[in-house]
Amino acid sequence: MGTTAVLQGATGAWEPVIGLEIHVELDTATKMFCACAVTKGDPPNTHTCPVCLAHPGALPVVNQRAVEYATRIALALNCTVRPRNLFHRKNYFYPDLPKAYQISQFDEPLAVDGWFEYWVGDEKLRCRINRVHMEEDAAKLVHAGGETGRIAGSDYTVVDFNRGGTPLIEIVSEPDILSPAAAREFLQQLRDLVIELGVSECTMEEGQVRWDANISVRPVGSAELGTRTELKNMNSFRYLQQALESELPRQVEMLEAGGRIDQETLHFDPATGTTTPLRSKEEAHDYRYFPEPDLVPLVMDPDWVESVRAGLPELPGARIARFTEQYGLSRADAVVLGGTGALARFYEGVVAQGVDPKLAANWTMGEYLAHLNAAGLEPGHGHVTPERLAKLVRLVADGAVSTSAAKDVFAKMITERAEPEAIVESHGLGQISDSAQLAAAVAEVIAGNPTQVEQYRGGKQQVIGYLVGQVMKVTGGRANPKLVNELLRKALDG
Ligand SMILES: [Zn+2]
Repeated sequence: MGTTAVLQGATGAWEPVIGLEIHVELDTATKMFCACAVTKGDPPNTHTCPVCLAHPGALPVVNQRAVEYATRIALALNCTVRPRNLFHRKNYFYPDLPKAYQISQFDEPLAVDGWFEYWVGDEKLRCRINRVHMEEDAAKLVHAGGETGRIAGSDYTVVDFNRGGTPLIEIVSEPDILSPAAAREFLQQLRDLVIELGVSECTMEEGQVRWDANISVRPVGSAELGTRTELKNMNSFRYLQQALESELPRQVEMLEAGGRIDQETLHFDPATGTTTPLRSKEEAHDYRYFPEPDLVPLVMDPDWVESVRAGLPELPGARIARFTEQYGLSRADAVVLGGTGALARFYEGVVAQGVDPKLAANWTMGEYLAHLNAAGLEPGHGHVTPERLAKLVRLVADGAVSTSAAKDVFAKMITERAEPEAIVESHGLGQISDSAQLAAAVAEVIAGNPTQVEQYRGGKQQVIGYLVGQVMKVTGGRANPKLVNELLRKALDG
């Protein structure tokens, strides 16, 4: 499994140690400290005000909904919400930050000491969460005139302040992740959790969720942490895994050659699959943190925190456990169907029609999921509704269509946007369960396959499977396979 990726070096075995920092932009109506709207895709610099543009004398006010959303995340990650928390100024200059500091949290963050459970295959892993804190996003820099959109090679840079001041949550994990594959699963499932909480759509292309990874290696069995490097600002699961798979062997080679790992920030180039240093990593003291004098400490009313906790939806972990119990699904199937809210709701919508939960699971994970992937659709979108899929599942369960014909019906449900019964009817796809209708096909197959018939009669019973397949072919997949099997045996044995 991908839970621990041991690297075999020349001097022995090494294990990766990976920690993640995840930034999530919240989908609040307004920004973190002003009344400007949080928007996507509006013309640049149309949602700004003296506060988010850092005009002198403008004063920030904390967005309560953002605090509530952040608290939801913290509670869902099993963190302790601290009774008092404080905003700090994190000082640095960059063109996307007009104040020359970011309002963030430092030594008194919103919440600490949580954990997140996630799965790699059907193995459940737990990663400790160090902290969850609130801050504001920077503005967006657009590097123009170059080929890559990156700063290197561009002619000039423009700034869109619409994003500046958007509520941003930082989730910091402990370095408990022991393989690139586990890091990828962690992030995918954490994103699912945040979406489930209704606090962010976590759109990847918009960079609404992005992450940094801290990476080091140590000899297997060692309890000490090695010097780490950092991969910054990634928003592709695949690139993260590739970057880790490239960086880990580099560190092992370096250490085995007697070298030293520099604590630095790396850039991953997907084109070459390699990492290159960007800059040496900043330390906290480089930022000259001090308490934000324009904001009072946030005192968290315990009753309010409990009311937020009471309002949490069913979380993926609990739902997966429920699916195994309530529907008798295997853990692996429950992870697929219960891991994300949208697919879980679709599946439960199918089951709610009174069809067999396991058969419904097979069709949801099989044809339906393949259809979503092929069409680039989210669960619940498109023309296949839970009601329609349930009707198809029932036709299969009742023997009205064969499994292979049902796949054909499913494909036509998408192209013809019609009810499964109507498709079966109009295309004549109903299962043939009438012996008299099948007799001709059985006779044809027996006549056309003398070798197999001889083998069967000579005692090679398993050849019957091949002959059944031939009858299915002749009937366009519509024959009832069980009946075909009986008819063939009767004809051959008799
Ligand atoms: Zn503003």
